[in-house]
Amino acid sequence: MTDTTAPATGGPLTAGPDRSIHCRELVRIYTSEDVEVQALQGLELDVVSGELVALVGASGSGKSTLLGILSGLDRPTAGSATVAGVDLTAMTRKSRLHYHRRVVGFVWQQTERNLVPYLTIEDNVLLAMQIGGTRDRAGRLATLVDLLDLGDVLDRRPGEVSGGQRQRAAVAVGLANEPSVLLADEPTGELDESTSAQLLETLRTVNHETGTTTLIVTHDATVSEHVGRTVRIRDGRTSTETLRSTTTGTTPDGEPQEFALVDRAGRLQLPQEYVDRLGLQDRVRLAMRPDHVGVYRGDDGQTTAPAAPLSAADDRTEHDDA
Ligand code: ADP
Ligand code: MG
Repeated sequence: MTDTTAPATGGPLTAGPDRSIHCRELVRIYTSEDVEVQALQGLELDVVSGELVALVGASGSGKSTLLGILSGLDRPTAGSATVAGVDLTAMTRKSRLHYHRRVVGFVWQQTERNLVPYLTIEDNVLLAMQIGGTRDRAGRLATLVDLLDLGDVLDRRPGEVSGGQRQRAAVAVGLANEPSVLLADEPTGELDESTSAQLLETLRTVNHETGTTTLIVTHDATVSEHVGRTVRIRDGRTSTETLRSTTTGTTPDGEPQEFALVDRAGRLQLPQEYVDRLGLQDRVRLAMRPDHVGVYRGDDGQTTAPAAPLSAADDRTEHDDA
């Protein structure tokens, strides 16, 4: 492990408008009666302007909680969050309104939240622009129809189109007012596999053509095939990430490269797959090397047979730990 800093993402260096996302030690504790749930436990996340990032994690890992905070509807218990230069912990009522209308767009997990059922898709998009105060609505509508291929369904209601068309319409509503940042919570949650893949490719095209910073939250691990960077969230903390860019973060044979995120206290989470394969538990032995840190089973693998061949066994040392 030679490089423990945040990996280069291949995204553009911040120039022009700030469309970045920064979360520092984000904590969100829900308290109801005498039960306390720590939904976010010191989450760190950086997304540069114009980047497309997928945030993946099991159900209950804190994804929607994070998007609730980034959307400005919920507040963190501790820590900081900045989106497009706006400090979300210090918003006035007025700046919050401006933030919702102009700075961020959403595709919500609850599909009924994205589109008004009794309005046509065209009227849904126009309504979003009216609320957001976009002036050239006809021009913007034409751009969105083109970008999201909505020409055939404009005069239909959300209940009268396919799931994929409905989600593209939801994306059009999210982008109606040219937001700096698009947040999408499980946008493919109700789509079949091939329609999901199509929607993700659409989001990639939109990101590429508009430069809108896009954060897609999902429990579907196959999303990483469609984005440059996938960040995993576990127990309310970002744990590992996969880079798939053409230059940085790719091994010579073109395989995506795995990274773990080290927080300020030096904590990192090993990928569950590594833990399972090497049978790591309770206490592991660390070995400091000139250019990396070795992590070994605390019992040195001698009590039970290893679950799989230890591929990183080349620099194992002989001495025991305890
Ligand atoms: P995800 O979107 O990854 O499935 P959530 O952010 O919805 O996860 O939830 C994270 C954790 O916080 C879960 O344990 C969930 O039960 C809890 N949680 C979410 N919202 C609330 C709430 N309003 N009150 C209490 N607990 C909540
Ligand atoms: Mg969720």
